[in-house]
Parts: sequence; C-alpha cells; structure tokens
Amino acid sequence: MDLCSGIQKMRVGQQNLQGAVLEVPEGRGPLCQSCKGICSGFLPHSWRKACTVCGCSVEDHGPGSDLDDDYNMGRLLADSKYAYLTAKVKGFRVYKRNRMVVTNPVVSRKDPTFDTITYDWAPPGLTQKLAMLYMKLLPKEKRPIAGTEGAGYRRRQLMRQLPVYDHDPSKCHRLLPEDQLQAMQAFVRLYKEAVGVGEVTLPAMGGAHPPPVVKGEPKNGKSLPVQPDLTALTNTNGTEDCCQTREYHCSGCGQLAPQDSPVVYAEQAGYARLWHPACFVCGECGEALVDLVYFWREGRLLCGRHFSQGIRPRCSGCDELIFCEDFQKGADGRVWHPDHYCCWQCSQILTVACSCPQTPAPCP
Ligand SMILES: [Zn+2]
Ligand SMILES: [Zn+2]
Ligand SMILES: [Zn+2]
Ligand SMILES: [Zn+2]
Ligand SMILES: [Zn+2]
Ligand SMILES: [Zn+2]
Repeated sequence: MDLCSGIQKMRVGQQNLQGAVLEVPEGRGPLCQSCKGICSGFLPHSWRKACTVCGCSVEDHGPGSDLDDDYNMGRLLADSKYAYLTAKVKGFRVYKRNRMVVTNPVVSRKDPTFDTITYDWAPPGLTQKLAMLYMKLLPKEKRPIAGTEGAGYRRRQLMRQLPVYDHDPSKCHRLLPEDQLQAMQAFVRLYKEAVGVGEVTLPAMGGAHPPPVVKGEPKNGKSLPVQPDLTALTNTNGTEDCCQTREYHCSGCGQLAPQDSPVVYAEQAGYARLWHPACFVCGECGEALVDLVYFWREGRLLCGRHFSQGIRPRCSGCDELIFCEDFQKGADGRVWHPDHYCCWQCSQILTVACSCPQTPAPCP
C-alpha cells in the first residue's frame, strides 16, 4: 500500500534525475562519499550519471532507497526464469527481497535482553543456521547488515552492477530511435536469458531443490528443506560408494569446499561447478555479485555491467550502452555517443579541441 506510493514517488525522482529538464529543489542531494568536503550536495547532470558539482557518480552520493532497489530488481527479474523472486504489487514487479532478522539473547545481565541484527538481504530458501554460516563466510565489510558499511556496499554495487538503463529502455536518458530501440530489445532478451541468481546450499546439493513454485511465504524456514538429499549423495547408479568421500573444489580459487560449509551454485554454469561464498565475484571487476545475481558468459561469472559491456559498448559520458553504429572511439579504448564526446565545461564536441583551460580527455 505505502509500497506503491513509494514507488510512484521514486519514479518521479528518477525522471528528474534522467530527464532533460531538471528542476532541482533548493536542497541539494546527498554529499559525495568519495570526495568529502568538495561536494556541496548532489546536483544531477542532464545526461551524465554524475554530479555536476564534483563529477563523481550517482552511487558515490549514496544510493536511493531500498524501495528503488526492489523496484529495479523486480524489473530486472521479471520475464526471466527468476520471476518467482518477484511479486506483482499494483501492476509493478517488485523484488521479494529476503530480509533476515536474527535475535540473540544477551546473557550478561540479570534480565535477559535481546540483541537483534537485521540483514538487508539473505539468500532465500535457507534455514537461518545455514544463512548465518553463509554470512560468516563473506568478508566482514561485505555482510549486508542494516546500517553498516556492508549494507552500503551492497546498495552501491546493486547500482553499479545492475544499472536499470541496461535493461529498461524507458530508463535511458532519451528516447531511442526505432532501429536502436529494436537493437536494445534484442540485447535485453539476451540479458534476461543470461541472468541467474546463485543458489546457496551445501556441496553436492546443487540443483537438488528446484526453485520454489509455492504460493505464500515460507514462514518458519521449515518449508524449504535443506536436509541432504541422500539419494543424490550415495547411490546414483547403485554401485558407487565413493561419493561419501568426494571432494569439492571451488571454481574460483580451486581450494577445497568443505562438505559442511555452504557454497554457491550457478545453474547457468552447470552443477559441476560451485564457489565459496567469498569467491562468487565478477570475473571482470572482482566485486561480490550482490544478491547472488550473476551472468554466465564464455565460461566466466560476470556482473550485469560487465556482461553488458562484453556485448555492446558503453558510453563513457552517460554510462548507457550504445546501440548506434557511429560512436566515437578514444585512443584509450573508451567510447562515447557522438554527442557525448564533449567537454565537461563548455560542452563542445571534442573532435575539435575546445579552449577551456586544462581540458583533459572527456571525463567519464
Ligand atoms: Zn557531488
Ligand atoms: Zn564527489
Ligand atoms: Zn574459493
Ligand atoms: Zn563486474
Ligand atoms: Zn552517452
Ligand atoms: Zn571546453
């Protein structure tokens, strides 16, 4: 209910951010977290995904709300085979993010008190015990505990890895002409076929539990069993008895994956592969694949950003993928939409150098 009014509010906000006409309220946006002191508050550019005050990115200024993220993720997973992780709320696809609240009694005092930790996200369909084991295997600064550095990391990486304008043409800063729109739609089909959401379970258990098709939420963690499926473990063809001692190795680091320690499986990569939770990272940027959203391409795990860039060039000006054929290439390998190859200060197209003092190559 208030979810929807929140979504409406958020959509208006995004339009302001990306539309050509900008009405910036007198209050600026959040301060930049990467150049503290220089930025007087986020001031959006009409098409660069950057702050006009300091030049840093949107995500450097603190991402929007959880609701923005859930809405964007809902859009991403809709029409994919992971649509079961979303719910339709008044016409919007919203991500059913699995929050986890862990309550531990504090026994040091006379009257017992409770210590509550909220995880902004936890792998779905696990018992709390297994989910906690998973969290312990992540680097501390990447655990998505509400209000901590790890929660901020998750939010920034969601924006960075899964920009909404990679898969939703209506979120690009301008309307695409028909031929480019068709090219983008073809790309989005590829994107949605390649997207996967990793499964956390014990080694040997990958694929043992097909995605839940159940209606209604599992309330007590019992409804999605994580008990080892012994038939899969022991007698696949009636003669093998070696499986009890089978060793599992991480496809990331090659090290052993203990049988009692959760790992991540990626269906698109096949169940012969598994990863330590901390090794489930993008092969290009090395960042943790937040919320386990991955893309599998040519034998590599990638984040959405790097999957997309492997297929279409990305403009260093507006950060959107380029669907026209006549783009500008720089000597350093960067590319731009023809009209985005311009000076930050005077906006002159830099095929002819402008006279601004110390104008470097066009800023990203
Ligand atoms: Zn700024
Ligand atoms: Zn900045
Ligand atoms: Zn590993
Ligand atoms: Zn990446
Ligand atoms: Zn551009
Ligand atoms: Zn200039």
